[in-house]
Amino acid sequence: MSASDIFRKVAQRIDGFRDAMVDLQVKLCAIPAIAPSSGGEGEAKKAEFLEAFLKENGFADVTLIKAPDLDAPSGYRPNLLAYFRGQSSAKTIWVMSHTDIVPAGELSLWRGDPFKAWVEKGRVYGRGVEDNQQALVASLFAVKAFAAEGLIPAYDVGVALVADEETGSKFGIDYVLHQANPFRPDDLIMVPDAGNEHGTLIEVAEKSILWLKFKTLGKQAHGSTPEKGVNSFKAASFLVTKLEGLYRRFPVRDRLFDPPISTFEPTKKEPNVPNINTIPGEDIFYMDSRILPKYKVEDVEKKVRALADQVEARFGVKIGVEVMQKAPAAPPTSAKAPVVLALKKAVKQVYRREGKAAGIGGGTVAALFRHAGFPAAVWAKLDETAHQPNEYCIIDNMVGDAKVFAHVFLQK
Ligand SMILES: [Zn+2]
Repeated sequence: MSASDIFRKVAQRIDGFRDAMVDLQVKLCAIPAIAPSSGGEGEAKKAEFLEAFLKENGFADVTLIKAPDLDAPSGYRPNLLAYFRGQSSAKTIWVMSHTDIVPAGELSLWRGDPFKAWVEKGRVYGRGVEDNQQALVASLFAVKAFAAEGLIPAYDVGVALVADEETGSKFGIDYVLHQANPFRPDDLIMVPDAGNEHGTLIEVAEKSILWLKFKTLGKQAHGSTPEKGVNSFKAASFLVTKLEGLYRRFPVRDRLFDPPISTFEPTKKEPNVPNINTIPGEDIFYMDSRILPKYKVEDVEKKVRALADQVEARFGVKIGVEVMQKAPAAPPTSAKAPVVLALKKAVKQVYRREGKAAGIGGGTVAALFRHAGFPAAVWAKLDETAHQPNEYCIIDNMVGDAKVFAHVFLQK
């Protein structure tokens, strides 16, 4: 049988699983796996259900890795690893998805019970159906198709169903990487937890995040006698315009990213005085920066401090700069990494579109792989309804993504 005949057989089998995939979505939705820190009891029950599913559906070496968490009623957070053996064990082709979900949020905004998934016009609705059950279900049925057809993938396939992605991954992939690391340097690692509506975005890099709080202290006075005070708001406003200079100081463009530059934007502003006729003595505003990985975050911080010093000297204020969040970017996955090339081929075959490696401004869970030295790629075909009321998964996307994974599993 030619390679394309084999793929056709697997793809047909996946089409035949359509109803079963929807059925698994509905069952998973009925077992809400919300982090204890978000008011839930963790993922233990969902993982127990999935462990049974894996064992009944042809997976081998199913392992449950328990990350201890005393806040969870079970005392742990479950991470499941399972394999489907290929013709060669020289490397493993991984699909990582997460079992945890975010809370439903305001229930009145939902058109149905978020934990009783329902189907409407080719979509499954429910909390977690897109984030991240679409990928989870797709990966399991991609493997099941091989088992059902009696076909062997080129290399070992691994599925990692991890906990705690929504609240930092400490009990999830971070724990797995540091306690049980099953990953090897040549493995291909797919993280189908973000993407775009066409399935063309292959996320390989991210910017560093730096959130700063600026607290400017002057001296309060009556609005009619500004010379008796020091106007903190005026000084802070001057600083805001000075910070615009960061764009010129850190000007590198990298077309891997959209936008291709580092960004430095003043965002939140706290109220100062409640009345018009008072010179404000205290002012607080914030800045959100997304910095290209080629720059050191510390260099941006130094430059910011220097600008604040200039404003202090000119206006006679004191400016405190506090870091609210600092997340240096992981080393990017190369746009030519095997996992990226494999995904491009598969996307072309299944969705008839050109995949494009790109960087994004926010952090993804793949950063944990990249920090650990594994070139992971984030990809899925999504409508990006994650965390919203009436979250849905387009059933065609779930079936199509399963075919993309299957295509990657077949690549030599
Ligand atoms: Zn997610």
